[in-house]
Amino acid sequence: MVIDIHCHAGTAEKLQAPWTTRADLSRYLERAEEAGIDKTVVFAITSEDYERANAEVAEIVSRHRDRLIGFARVHAERDKGKIERLLRLAVEDYGFRGIKIHGAEALPTREVCEAAEGLGLPILIDIMGRVEILPLLATEFPEVNFIVAHLGSFSDDWRVFQVMPSMLAQYPNLYADTSGIRFFDYLLEAVQVAGAKKILFGSDGPLLHPGLEMQKIRLLKLSPEDEGLILGGNAQRLLGI
Ligand SMILES: [Zn+2]
Repeated sequence: MVIDIHCHAGTAEKLQAPWTTRADLSRYLERAEEAGIDKTVVFAITSEDYERANAEVAEIVSRHRDRLIGFARVHAERDKGKIERLLRLAVEDYGFRGIKIHGAEALPTREVCEAAEGLGLPILIDIMGRVEILPLLATEFPEVNFIVAHLGSFSDDWRVFQVMPSMLAQYPNLYADTSGIRFFDYLLEAVQVAGAKKILFGSDGPLLHPGLEMQKIRLLKLSPEDEGLILGGNAQRLLGI
């Protein structure tokens, strides 16, 4: 089963960038089908109100039950004091299976990690290059699986890519997704150093093309077993599906 671990869906309030306006899945769903993607993890774009945005994602997921899996997005600071309630709602009412945190808003707090641990949810996190927090998260919450989006930097920060492979190898509960990584040899190095079991295919759709992102995985020229882990096996294990 091929699983895209990173895609956005729904609308937002600010209207100052595509990711604060709308993530429309109609083209994505066609492209993902053409690329052979069976299931896609979706979560909100950058919103002013994640209770509303998560509910909207739940509604979108309910229209594509066979293809979409929801993650709950929360703002670690603005939603302080209600993280557990928001996540419990997402798990129990919406059937969501993970958490998305974006470092441009706030990095994960103890409250977020404790809720993740209690509910058994992985955290997909965009650290915005803040690679130094990963050992703190990984050792403080060894039972929580952290999936580091874009190998740690959407903005091609090679300094981050330089240290990510050894960090992934060192901490059993640290993973990375492949979405938006342009410097191909750092992706290859991450697989070689940390092993295919620590890397998950993600597209960062709908802005990025899932078929194009998937070609990067094919071009790694791995064994069928290792390619299978990256394209879906790891996600199946982490999401319990
Ligand atoms: Zn994203």
